[in-house]
Amino acid sequence: MTHILHRSIGPDLPRAVSGEGVWIADAQGKRYLDGSGGAAVTALGHGNAEVLDAMRRQMDAIAYAHTSFFTTDAAESLADRLVGLAPGGLEHVYLVSGGSEAVEAALKMARQYFVEIGQPQRRHIIARRQSYHGNTIGALATGGNEWRRRQFQPILPETHHVSPCYAYRDMAAGESPEEYGARLAVELDETIRRLGADEVIAFVAEPVVGATLGAVTAVPGYFRAIREVCDRHGVLLILDEVMCGMGRTGTIFAHEQEGIAPDLVTIAKGLGGGYQPIGAVMLSDRIYRAFAEGSGLFQHGHTYIGHPIAAAAADKVVEIMARPGMMENVQAMGERLQSGLESRLGQHPNVGDIRGRGLFRGVELVADRDSKTPLDPALKTHAKIKKEAMARGLMCYPMGGTIDGVRGDHVLLAPPYIIAPEEVDILVDRLGDAIEAVLA
Ligand code: PMP
Repeated sequence: MTHILHRSIGPDLPRAVSGEGVWIADAQGKRYLDGSGGAAVTALGHGNAEVLDAMRRQMDAIAYAHTSFFTTDAAESLADRLVGLAPGGLEHVYLVSGGSEAVEAALKMARQYFVEIGQPQRRHIIARRQSYHGNTIGALATGGNEWRRRQFQPILPETHHVSPCYAYRDMAAGESPEEYGARLAVELDETIRRLGADEVIAFVAEPVVGATLGAVTAVPGYFRAIREVCDRHGVLLILDEVMCGMGRTGTIFAHEQEGIAPDLVTIAKGLGGGYQPIGAVMLSDRIYRAFAEGSGLFQHGHTYIGHPIAAAAADKVVEIMARPGMMENVQAMGERLQSGLESRLGQHPNVGDIRGRGLFRGVELVADRDSKTPLDPALKTHAKIKKEAMARGLMCYPMGGTIDGVRGDHVLLAPPYIIAPEEVDILVDRLGDAIEAVLA
């Protein structure tokens, strides 16, 4: 009997008692390969001695100091490091405790920016359908995942949604990727005009879509076209890199690979690598200056922003992930994972698409490969795969086909960046076995 309210009420979960590298052991001594990094969190794996040591040293020095009285070396060092690694344009950092908090802060920062510069009429947020930006009210309203939103709809603030960039399902026959990306940019442009170009605050998108679609990258040029549309109307571009950022796709920031400069970026998950709860908003100097030269106050804040132990852990996590060889391993092991999945599952009649970037990969499951018909959501295929995978000692992150009623099941993979070639092969084997057991 457990007294914890888990996400799903009922299941008897194994108790995690130790972790080392890409492995977690339960109380029975069974070992699980962390093929999803939890939910794309454990960037450096479990039990990293350097990170634990950095946390211990911070605990011994000072565990907590409220940010309205003090800053700390840990928070300053982390902010310097993140700005130093950012591809350009992102010059300031606001530290929070997780992904949803980062999205909430980014939304409020974007809104207050326009108040500061004398455009208080701007009030609309636009995001994409089939997206997830967090579970707090503002973040949930921003996300376009119908299943997650449905019962909370009456208490969500109004937001607007355009199509995601999802070439596997939505690129038209005969359309080139460039034409598809341009078509989506026109849709955004028209949506902004319809709402009133001077009344829109921001467009929010994940560079690589994680939880809702399963490691879906945008077509080349999509984000450049989106950036142009935002610039045309003075709309801010907020990129949500909570899941795909911090090295997950083979570069520290996912948007580096899109060749654009966002106004605001949210990060979390891999930032703390699971060692501490932490997230951040990174912002351009233009936005920072509007605050500095305006009210001098970002009217927001939580008790634990800039928490010293979280900052010390993240500072070490980011230092380690930026060392020579780490991003190269993410790229090389990502390629190995992709080709392993293709050779094991590429011909499976229920595998529609295998995709992703770096160590962020997705397998989309379908009832029929040619028509791409999704599996019946009532089958709960994703849940069965998770169960079969756990039985085989593999953590993967399957999501269900309840989104807008038409999208399929998929499995998201996001192992730690330190994964070795033979561990990638174990991951592929166990996932292959689980999928084949469920979809025999
Ligand atoms: N944004 C994205 C893109 C996410 O994937 C998530 C978490 N899955 C969040 C925001 C919310 O982060 P958290 O769960 O840390 O609040």
